[in-house]
Amino acid sequence: MAEIVIKNVAKRFGGFTALHSIDLTITDQEFMVLLGASGCGKTTLLRIIAGLETPSQGEVWIGGKRVDHLPPRERGISMVFQNYAVFPHLTVFENIAFGLRMKKLPQTEIDRRVNRTAELMHIEQLLKRYSGQLSGGQRQRVAVARALAMEPDVILMDEPLSNLDALLRLEMRAELKGVLADSKTTTIYVTHDQVEAMSLADRISVMNGGKIVQAASPVEVYRNPAARFVGSFIGNPPMNFLPARRGTNGQFQVAGLELPGPVAGDALDFAIRPEDVEIAPTGFVATARVIEPLGAHTLVTTEVDGKLFRAVLDSDLKVAPGDELRLAPKPDRVRWFDPETTLAV
Ligand code: ATP
Repeated sequence: MAEIVIKNVAKRFGGFTALHSIDLTITDQEFMVLLGASGCGKTTLLRIIAGLETPSQGEVWIGGKRVDHLPPRERGISMVFQNYAVFPHLTVFENIAFGLRMKKLPQTEIDRRVNRTAELMHIEQLLKRYSGQLSGGQRQRVAVARALAMEPDVILMDEPLSNLDALLRLEMRAELKGVLADSKTTTIYVTHDQVEAMSLADRISVMNGGKIVQAASPVEVYRNPAARFVGSFIGNPPMNFLPARRGTNGQFQVAGLELPGPVAGDALDFAIRPEDVEIAPTGFVATARVIEPLGAHTLVTTEVDGKLFRAVLDSDLKVAPGDELRLAPKPDRVRWFDPETTLAV
């Protein structure tokens, strides 16, 4: 069992607070992604869990044991970082065996584990090669194989795919997902790439300014963002927002449309994803500004009441800049946010 519990963890660097009182539980064998823009504190949180950084306050528990005062090697974790840390002067075999030798495992056990993980990562034909002669993608596989060979309860990964080109990233992403689903490890994975986060995670913790704004399944953070930030950060193009006011009949007025809204509040932000609008005579008026054919769909950037509004529409649609469209939001996809707190209502 390797449940990870983070209790009231904060980190200050001098006068700067990188993490504000974080509470988070990662369940045994869960794949948790920490997602957020550069500087939001994801690496700092990961390094605190790893033991590479000391928290200014709070506790870290792994597998029912408090570990925040233990050195990294006593925490039962393996790590994979962006810059691989694969030793170029060692063979692939010796790189994978490195931690196992440190643990003084018998040679037969080392052979078994190296061969098994090399096979898993499809690098068994490279075992005798020096790591300095490998491509970036191959080195990345070695780094993951080395982490898996330790058979850790917990694997921590910080942007492990960020040095790979787009196609290789896609391929490695699918492989990592398969391999880690079969292993019994609890995984925490740091990325700023929301597509990677969506594709890998059981749950995503969306971070902003040293706080966790929402921790939920990929579908949940996409469909039901807990705050405006989540709706804007996740999804490409991001969620649309328009100001809404409650009329005398109790309905909300949004760009000339009347929509039923939440019971509470008089001024709210109406929100909808770009793919959740349809061309229909009952919709609000949107003036097309930029048309971008994307193959499967066409992204139309419009103006609605002077506000930017994006719509992902059928690629067969004939539309030119300046055209007036009528866009109807799908009723079950409409969300509402409090403009003051920016939280979902
Ligand atoms: P990135 O994706 O760019 O790595 P991140 O979300 O992982 O960003 P962190 O590396 O955790 O962000 O950094 C969070 C904040 O803490 C940043 O503003 C960073 O400048 C600051 N910070 C991190 N380490 C230190 C340090 N040793 N001393 C001072 N400030 C630091």
